[in-house]
Amino acid sequence: MPEIWIKEAERLGDGDIGGSMDTPSAPPRVVWHTTESGAGNAAFNAVGSYLIRAASEPHILYDPTTDRLAQYGPLNESARALRNDGSTRTNRTGRVCIQIEVLARAGKPFTDYWKPGPNFRALMRAIRSWGVPDTWPAGSCAPGASRPRSTWATRGGHYGHCHIPGNDHWDPGNIDRNAILKAAGGSGTAPQGDTSGGSSGGSSVARYKVTIGGLEYGYGAKGAHVTAVGKALVAQGCSAYQEGPGPNWTDADTRSYQKWQRKLGYSGSDADGVPGETSLKRLMGTLPGASKGASKPTVDLSNVIAAARRDPGLRQGGTTHAADVRVVEAALKAEGLLSSTYASDGSFGSTTVTAYAKWQRKCGYTGSAADGIPGKASLEKLGAKRGFKVRA
Ligand SMILES: [Zn+2]
Repeated sequence: MPEIWIKEAERLGDGDIGGSMDTPSAPPRVVWHTTESGAGNAAFNAVGSYLIRAASEPHILYDPTTDRLAQYGPLNESARALRNDGSTRTNRTGRVCIQIEVLARAGKPFTDYWKPGPNFRALMRAIRSWGVPDTWPAGSCAPGASRPRSTWATRGGHYGHCHIPGNDHWDPGNIDRNAILKAAGGSGTAPQGDTSGGSSGGSSVARYKVTIGGLEYGYGAKGAHVTAVGKALVAQGCSAYQEGPGPNWTDADTRSYQKWQRKLGYSGSDADGVPGETSLKRLMGTLPGASKGASKPTVDLSNVIAAARRDPGLRQGGTTHAADVRVVEAALKAEGLLSSTYASDGSFGSTTVTAYAKWQRKCGYTGSAADGIPGKASLEKLGAKRGFKVRA
């Protein structure tokens, strides 16, 4: 089975970055980028959210120095890190076009100093699950690489941003192309989904987060509610803890929760250790957070900006950051700036942009400061008046 979400990857954003492929019968491919930044967790977090604000998300963000791996969107849909080649949407070329931003600089090839680990192997396993061949059809990524249009249209394999027609970036620089393929381990025809490969058991722990009743669960989540779940798991005899649970959700929490899911009779991906609403309700007796109906909703500024900036013509199947957008739409309606026809569609289309521009002018902004794309100050003002908080 092709992998759509890599279970070892953390998740970034709301999981909605693109749409269906334009040429799904063309061979599958991968595009490597570098972020032109440093590496390490601070850079990872900063670049990770910057790419959302810039609406330029790849599928994958990878730190070559720590083996940290995160995923923005499903591998079977497009990402947004490439420019179009005239009318050809390069982001949507192929069965899949998996784009990876590596925290590195093109001028200093990351394969000279990287430390690929279990997460890199998981990434390559997912890439191979789509049938991407272990080849570099456009050759070297050294400066001066060419951008052969017919190769890109017809051949599967690994490319650099430097190879893509209609683009002018030169990343990822002169990386060792064979080192990328070698570090994957196994062979290009290895059965997908096989994580054994001699790697540590740690690589098979799910590392994504879910939001239930307004609270986050899963790797990286934190708070008193995480501690409460841990204590309940211990009470149920489902402990994989070396030390006391909470307040940070670690792999031990995931492993403990997995025991609980199995106890309830779940198996396979239903028992991956990341809570679902039903199992959580049964563990805690009631759904934590859900009763706080009176508390103010929170709107994520970068989500709303990304939604408003997205070309409506690119929107396919559903909406972007709909939960955040609905809160803003309701507030605009309450201000008498948006008709009820559009007030709850969760889509920040041109009508909502126009309505928001009116709000900005109401706030005293003019010209490009009243372009209908939310800014922090105007959004906070709207929230203060209409009952939502802004996370910036
Ligand atoms: Zn790039």
